[in-house]
Amino acid sequence: MVISSKFLDALTPSSIRSITAKIRDKAKEGVQVTSFAGGLPSKEFFPIEDIRKINDWIFEEEGGEAIQYAASDGYDPLRQYLVKFMQRYQVTDIDYKNILITSGAQQGLAYLAKGLITNGSVVIVENPSYPGALDTFRAYGAKIVGVGMDDDGLKMDELETALKKHTKGVAFIYTIADFQNPTGRSMSIERRKQLVELAEKYDTFVVEDGPYSLISFDGTVMPAIKSFDKYGRVIYSGSTSKTIAPGLRIGWLIADHESITKLVYLKMRDDLQVNNIAQRQVYRYLKDCDFDGHLQTVIDVYRRRRNVMIDAVKNSFPEGTHIVVPGGGLFLWLELDPSVDTLAMFDYVFQKNIAYVPGVFFCPDGSGKNAMRLNFSTASEKSIAECVPILGDMIRQYIQEQ
Ligand code: PMP
Repeated sequence: MVISSKFLDALTPSSIRSITAKIRDKAKEGVQVTSFAGGLPSKEFFPIEDIRKINDWIFEEEGGEAIQYAASDGYDPLRQYLVKFMQRYQVTDIDYKNILITSGAQQGLAYLAKGLITNGSVVIVENPSYPGALDTFRAYGAKIVGVGMDDDGLKMDELETALKKHTKGVAFIYTIADFQNPTGRSMSIERRKQLVELAEKYDTFVVEDGPYSLISFDGTVMPAIKSFDKYGRVIYSGSTSKTIAPGLRIGWLIADHESITKLVYLKMRDDLQVNNIAQRQVYRYLKDCDFDGHLQTVIDVYRRRRNVMIDAVKNSFPEGTHIVVPGGGLFLWLELDPSVDTLAMFDYVFQKNIAYVPGVFFCPDGSGKNAMRLNFSTASEKSIAECVPILGDMIRQYIQEQ
């Protein structure tokens, strides 16, 4: 007998997973796909030796306590360290009780969805946005409303129109303000301040998701929206997935003390606590190893890969391709001629063992048909320089054959 409920039966695999499955099928046939579709940081730079060393320290210093049951709100030394860490984003007005450690940012987003969305409530998001968040919000009953972006991020006039329209029940506004997934755009400081004011005016919350903020190619780290939050309207979500390693699954939520207490109760009902060892690994890595040196290495590599990708796109994609040049993060967002349907084109390009993510996967309103997201963090400069022109040729051929 298969388990069944309204909730379970409505769940579907993520749209990007359909691409991952195709890539896996090819791998089984012994064919290596050059995937620009993933959203992964590059594993060649994961600080394996440091983590190995840290594991020894943990057990030498703490013995069994390190793998004992522990508090649901998180490992206090890590929470305390993150208070200091958040100064990088100019978030200064917090203490460790404002922080809940989560199993990656994804778990934090799921807690906010479970806690704040009631059936039919609206969640306003950037259009396009991160499908992993959209799927989670939908799973807990949200109606997703997308608001347009320009080079300064979410458009505040459109946002206000949406807030006015949905007078009842905007659970929160979800934004990835720095080097957004998928567009690579960042929100201007002026708009960050306006966003806080709009959340206050329309009595809702901002969920600020910041996994890419430190992957900044010119080294500038923007003040978080949370740093302008005079009203307690912004819940910040952080993660070390893109800066250390995603498999450690360390993220954190920042909110006022009472909200954190409620989220801790939710966590107690969910998984009791985040893995002790991972919390210690991240704490000791940030505190005792060369996190900034590591970050700089990753930034330098990603910047070079981005540059190679942009040059290759400029030289090989059809005329009229619009490139959003990202100042950081992992992604390049491209808009082709409006007549091109990138979802329909996917299998045609995939014949050459190259993958990308079609733009529609990111757009809650079904727009983005002529867009695609390319990831530049995982492939080498050589592979990008070789494969992007093949992708460009395939797109030209596809257009000709239509
Ligand atoms: N938010 C965004 C915008 C992401 O792109 C991702 C992962 N790609 C996540 C959250 C989830 O990150 P984590 O590994 O911390 O759960």
